Amino acid sequence: MNGERQNLLGLSRPQLEDFLAGLGEKPYRARQLMKWIYRQGEADFDRMTDISKTLRERLKELAEVKPPVIVTERLSNDGTRKWLLQTGASQAIEMVFIPEADRGTLCISSQVGCALDCSFCATGKQGFNRNLSSAEIAGQVWLAKRLLGETALATDRVISNVVFMGMGEPLANYRNVVPVLQLLIDELGFELSRRRVTLSTSGLVPNMVKLGDDCNVALAVSLHAPNDELRDRLVPINRKHPIRELLDACWGYAKKRNNRQITFEYVMMDGVNDSHVHARELARLLRDRPAKVNLIPFNPFPGTGYRCSPAQRIDEFRQILLDGGIMTTTRRTRGQDIDAACGQLAGRVTDRTTARLGDKLIRQVSSA
Ligand code: SAH
Ligand code: SF4
Repeated sequence: MNGERQNLLGLSRPQLEDFLAGLGEKPYRARQLMKWIYRQGEADFDRMTDISKTLRERLKELAEVKPPVIVTERLSNDGTRKWLLQTGASQAIEMVFIPEADRGTLCISSQVGCALDCSFCATGKQGFNRNLSSAEIAGQVWLAKRLLGETALATDRVISNVVFMGMGEPLANYRNVVPVLQLLIDELGFELSRRRVTLSTSGLVPNMVKLGDDCNVALAVSLHAPNDELRDRLVPINRKHPIRELLDACWGYAKKRNNRQITFEYVMMDGVNDSHVHARELARLLRDRPAKVNLIPFNPFPGTGYRCSPAQRIDEFRQILLDGGIMTTTRRTRGQDIDAACGQLAGRVTDRTTARLGDKLIRQVSSA
């Protein structure tokens, strides 16, 4: 363990059982600990009173429950909150909470920056620094629950949904993300419904296939274009995994989830991907499939050359999809006054490996 304490946040139940087995403890200890950590939000081993004093002392020596450190918090006038979290010397990530009448959605980050360099995304424009650990990813949810005052006794949950739509490409950090997905839906963990945990990906096909077997939570796919010629330019990973291959993986994934729908995200950019022809082309791709479309008005950030499509064009686009039999919604922009809207999360990335799109980097990312 190199003298470093094991952060228990982010260990899935089997991983925590393994850790305890290493200390000569029985698996039921994992249940006890998880109840304290996730139900009670407790970080202090001394207060975990049904755990023997000897084990508590050992845990204090070898383990910790340590969430990310908050740098700043901002509150939008629509109630959206955004936190900047420290993840190491001069690096930071962002986390957003979006309250709505019938749900509370926490949007978390999986990497510091992102290597995939989508042309319309502030995170992508920063380049990639590193993967977050499982503890740093799960720690966001644990911290948010505390900050939002969700207690073990409350009957109403403050956080009902968790989406991996913050900074980073979660499937490029597969090894650390999967234990967190398991923890999110574990009844002794964050206890969320599988349907209320959504992983959003720009299309790392091999890991989409794996995910279907490992932990098939709800899937959102960032499509943004109905043909390869355009998608190659907007979402460069498309050059490696083109639309046909991506959609095949989507339908395979849906099959493993009783054909539950996949959400296709489509950022609306003026004069780029928002014509009637694009809409009809998109409808043809998704017709008679377990698919719904979420249109996202483009959110600007400093230095971007794109503009959001006019509201009327978004409505027309939506209507064409609806007429084509595709369930379609338009995402309401939230938290824009505090730069907390989709694609605006910039955090702080230093010492970055500026995103390059050489084959090497793409290969490295997709096999991570
Ligand atoms: N890397 C993952 C998840 C993080 S991005 C992915 O790409 O799916 C979450 C969503 O925000 C994606 O659909 C992404 O395409 C979208 N997005 C990125 N930049 C945006 C912008 N400037 N305006 C609106 N949405 C944006
Ligand atoms: Fe990365 Fe997603 Fe942004 Fe593309 S849209 S650069 S995959 S975070």
